[in-house]
Amino acid sequence: MFHELDKDNYFYAMSKDNEPKLKVNLGDTVKIESHDCFTGQITSEENAFNGFAWDQINPASGPVYVNGVKPGDILKVTIEKIDIGSTGVMVTGPEMGVMGNKLKDMNVRIFDVDNDKGSVDFDGLDIPINKMIGVIGVAPPNAEINNGTPDTHGGNMDSIKVAEGATLYLPVYQEGALFGLGDVHAAMADGEISVSGLEVEAEVTVKLEKAETVKTYHPVITDKDGVYMMVSDKDLNLAVDQSVHKMIELIQPHTGLSLSEITMLMSLVGHTQINQVVDPKKTARFFVPQYILEHYDIELN
Ligand code: CA
Ligand code: ZN
Repeated sequence: MFHELDKDNYFYAMSKDNEPKLKVNLGDTVKIESHDCFTGQITSEENAFNGFAWDQINPASGPVYVNGVKPGDILKVTIEKIDIGSTGVMVTGPEMGVMGNKLKDMNVRIFDVDNDKGSVDFDGLDIPINKMIGVIGVAPPNAEINNGTPDTHGGNMDSIKVAEGATLYLPVYQEGALFGLGDVHAAMADGEISVSGLEVEAEVTVKLEKAETVKTYHPVITDKDGVYMMVSDKDLNLAVDQSVHKMIELIQPHTGLSLSEITMLMSLVGHTQINQVVDPKKTARFFVPQYILEHYDIELN
């Protein structure tokens, strides 16, 4: 069945206490409309912060209650389509992102997103659009988690791999999962060093199912290129280490390789990559290419 959820159904923290705004069944498709990460508060470059509320950032649309998923299951989210608005916002400023220690003033830029051309004009450069979802997740196990923070439930993972055509697997902690998404970017690069992508309104179409074979304690993505394990931690070193460990736990049982052998293989073909280095927890991802999965007949679904 097909459903739609409009952007005025949103929350700022993922929580078991959020009231479901839509109930769907396994296998249903939902078109979810989302505000940009400023909840649409920035409409001009000049007056951006007059009356701006800093506690109204990173809204996620939802939550969507998925009938038939319960704690211990893995929610399978297929990202079928991402449509974005024609205006994007970026912000830099003191204490924000990697350069925040040197930046003296808040700066806002509003860009035209040329969806027909597939690019954004920046100083005469055509920056390619690479649409992605920054905040996507389910209600966490215990206390609420602000949408600005990523963790095992998803949240603000800011991965360029959470894109059209990809499938995201999320551990479920609450009845019905309580799924939501927002903070869509028209473009962003690994690291998100300024703490801002090109922030846009969006309509995201997702199919919601229960995973059959994937077992994971952290968010996993599959796409045409391969599989990614994503781990968030305050300490990026720990996030990197754990993304390797958890990927090996995910695929080793399917390979017949010893720990020593799979460690050698991963050192040859597995890539350490970074989602973002600017959120309250930083997110690393470890990538294994598709031909490795095919060689060992590993079906992740
Ligand atoms: Ca974000
Ligand atoms: Zn964002």
